[in-house]
Amino acid sequence: MIKERQTKYISAIRSYMQAANHATNHEILAYLRHQYPDLSSTTVHRITKRMLERGDLIIAPSNNENVTRLDSRLDPHDHFACQLCDQLRDIVLPLDMISQLQALIDDCKISGRLTIQGSCSKCIKYKEIL
Ligand SMILES: [Zn+2]
Ligand SMILES: [Zn+2]
Repeated sequence: MIKERQTKYISAIRSYMQAANHATNHEILAYLRHQYPDLSSTTVHRITKRMLERGDLIIAPSNNENVTRLDSRLDPHDHFACQLCDQLRDIVLPLDMISQLQALIDDCKISGRLTIQGSCSKCIKYKEIL
């Protein structure tokens, strides 16, 4: 019975992450609580931790409050982060661009993927309305 519920939560989290692409544990919980009022924060943490360990999820850049975000896209990619609404968007920076950046820092080395910050199109449009 408990196992059954667990399986249900796992697949609910998996499909939410597929749709959301990036989310914190808290966002997953807030969304799935509508459907599963019994779902606890501990359970969400336990399931996503397991998914991270198995490589079903990876870590995305943290949000503005420095909370870890999970990423359902597993192939190597970079991010564009909106500083206003805190949304992440997947981008893939061209390799020659990475090499150019690498050249700027001489003997230091870029590790991992990059996050570019700015204002997203929605926020720019919203500001124009105001
Ligand atoms: Zn935005
Ligand atoms: Zn991503």
